[in-house]
Amino acid sequence: MFISDCLGINEAGHLTIGGVDTIMLAEKYGTPLYVMDEDDIRRSCSLYKKSIDKYYDGQGLVTYASKAFCCKEICKVAASEGLGLDVVSAGELYTAHEAGFPMEKVFFHGNNKTMEELTLALEYGVGRIVVDNLTELAFLNTLARSQGKTANIFFRIKPGIDAHTHDFVRTGQIDSKFGLALETGEAMEAVKEALGYENICLKGLHCHIGSQIFDIEPFEHAAQVMLGFIAQIKTETGYEIGELNLGGGFGIKYITEHDPVEYDSYMQKVSAVVNSTCKDLAIKRPFIIIEPGRSIAGPAGITLYTVGAVKEIPHIRTYVSIDGGMTDNPRYALYQSEYECLVASRAGEPREKVVTIAGKCCESGDLIGEGMHIQDVKPGDIIAVLATGAYNYSMSSNYNRIPKPAVIFVKGGKDRLVVKRETLEDIIRNDL
Ligand SMILES: *Cc1c(COP(=O)(O)O)cnc(C)c1O
Repeated sequence: MFISDCLGINEAGHLTIGGVDTIMLAEKYGTPLYVMDEDDIRRSCSLYKKSIDKYYDGQGLVTYASKAFCCKEICKVAASEGLGLDVVSAGELYTAHEAGFPMEKVFFHGNNKTMEELTLALEYGVGRIVVDNLTELAFLNTLARSQGKTANIFFRIKPGIDAHTHDFVRTGQIDSKFGLALETGEAMEAVKEALGYENICLKGLHCHIGSQIFDIEPFEHAAQVMLGFIAQIKTETGYEIGELNLGGGFGIKYITEHDPVEYDSYMQKVSAVVNSTCKDLAIKRPFIIIEPGRSIAGPAGITLYTVGAVKEIPHIRTYVSIDGGMTDNPRYALYQSEYECLVASRAGEPREKVVTIAGKCCESGDLIGEGMHIQDVKPGDIIAVLATGAYNYSMSSNYNRIPKPAVIFVKGGKDRLVVKRETLEDIIRNDL
């Protein structure tokens, strides 16, 4: 009945997550509150992992794209599931390191890593640095030489694929700030340069065509293009690239109408293309890496809010104001992302009202959604916005000096705090 498997209703008619009563959680920890079902996160990790075993004979690695939701606890969960980890900044890298994440399974991405970030990556010994451009390549070689190290790298490639998703989350096309273009010869130039550097070891190629993608075909197409480039490199240089990272971007169900592909069938179809293309091109099948972020964290999370005023503007709309908003979930403001919501204490009742859910920031665009269906809602009600596990906490801000909410994990019917709620002291911590 709900969009995520981890949600249910108990005898009191309250919404549950991982079997835990959300009204109880709101009372115990306050609102706004992010709640995530650890078992759901682990199920998704293991689904991906099994499909690598099944379709690539275990010759691959699932890395969790930590930008979707990053804190020490989820790094520990990903590590214990045997996943690798993607990081895109010193902050994410430091979090992983402090969580004890095995550094050899970390991929460091980013289109403009600073010298400090690259230095930290070499110092920690991250597994792979995904180099975005020629400037970074030269920097990294110099840095690695000065430390007497070899940097194991991937190149971020733009395969020139249109992933049929929102413009702001499309990344595979030539007009993108990410990566090296194939069409212009820039990517081949980078490969040749890397092969000439003494302190660089070119391990693999990477592409990531976008996010919240529902079709399999762009992934298949990207795999073909990337393998074609591996074959071309082999022909032109004699060097055979052994690893291929096909990125993340698998779509999830935010609203009932969304119909994402089963991860297993995505893996089955793409692996078939990989296997046949490698045969056709007479190259060895590379070790395959995939990088799901949203699809691991997203469905596992919800956000709980307390309703303040309900403002009915006759013939126009009804605003339901909540104690959070764009500071804890900027996705509607950024991309008009759709969500489902409900009154947590009457979760099973029909959602007959149509409302706009508004945050508390001084911005008219501070909305969680418009035209949202919900039960009859009154001041003081707890509402739940669903599938907020990804790109909510990680995109949160302190705009209007609003402290960030706490994050709770539930597992096996028990709840625990994994990120503390910010306090007013935290808000002025760095003020002098
Ligand atoms: C964001 C990102 C991902 C994860 O994308 P999802 O849509 O969350 O699965 C994977 N790889 C790279 C390089 C990314 O930038």
